[in-house]
Amino acid sequence: MWSLTFGGIKQIAFCATVTFILNRVVVVSAQDFGYEGQHGPQHWAEDFKRCSGKFQSPINIDELSVVEKEFPDLEYNNIDVIPKRVHMGNNGHTVVVKMKFEKGREPSMMGGPLERKSQYQFEQFHFHWGQNDTVGSEDLVNNHAYPAELHVVMRSLDFKDFQSALGQDHGVAVLAFFFSIDEEDNPNYEEFVKSLSIISGKGMWITLQNLLPLSKFLSWDLVSYYSYVGSLTTPPCAEKVVWIDFQIAIPISEKQINHFRELTLHDYHLRNNFRPPQPINDRIIYENVPRKFVQLGYSAIPFVNADNAAEKCSKGGGIVLILVCYVINSLFTCTKF
Ligand SMILES: [Zn+2]
Repeated sequence: MWSLTFGGIKQIAFCATVTFILNRVVVVSAQDFGYEGQHGPQHWAEDFKRCSGKFQSPINIDELSVVEKEFPDLEYNNIDVIPKRVHMGNNGHTVVVKMKFEKGREPSMMGGPLERKSQYQFEQFHFHWGQNDTVGSEDLVNNHAYPAELHVVMRSLDFKDFQSALGQDHGVAVLAFFFSIDEEDNPNYEEFVKSLSIISGKGMWITLQNLLPLSKFLSWDLVSYYSYVGSLTTPPCAEKVVWIDFQIAIPISEKQINHFRELTLHDYHLRNNFRPPQPINDRIIYENVPRKFVQLGYSAIPFVNADNAAEKCSKGGGIVLILVCYVINSLFTCTKF
């Protein structure tokens, strides 16, 4: 009798467990998000309350309304370190790149608009893009959209992991880089874009063969930026994220950016995976005003990627750029003899 009862309890417990698991599956699937229709951005707040917050991202940056500010220098560490491994995967919403480094050699940064004395460590980077060149970026500048945007996610080491940093003051920072169409292929993105077709399905991951440091995926200018406090641009839309939007775009060819768009042929969730701009409300958008090169000499330009800058200089392009290149080259030359 006792064993029958015990068996019954076990059966009930088993059924309850199955029911619980099934409920979890239903809940998770109901909370999935996309960029169109009933799972589109207009409906995110139904399942993720924070998506209706007052300090959301992305935004439109109106250059006439930004407030100029001389932030402390941004300091980058280990962004030129070759990673041990580079993984890229399709999470059903975007393409994510994760890098593994020797212990203590992880890229990190501090300074600028980030919390004083806090180190921010690299977590991952991912992309947002559109079906043609007129749409794709999340943040806009003067209501202009770029064809794609790179988000480099950084987490403050004051928190033990990304989850505990989310929604905390100065817990997470995102470096945003726009892409602009260039006639030539961007060699740093060549293996990456060609690998996109291999991860056409959600949950597919591969390892890249050509191990490039983080800096190779970024813009050559890491000094000129806008900054504001916003949120993650995807659910759960956690706020208090420090955004640093770099002004000089990363060049990419039409052929290369089309590899992103081919992904959308396999999954409509990945078509136009950008959130529309959100109300700014009473937030201030800052523009960094770097200190004068001549006053500070070499230390005024510590974050210009010298290789990429040299590439730009050799290509030429505009009197202003030539002058900037001249100053940069002079300073590097002066410090290298
Ligand atoms: Zn993003």
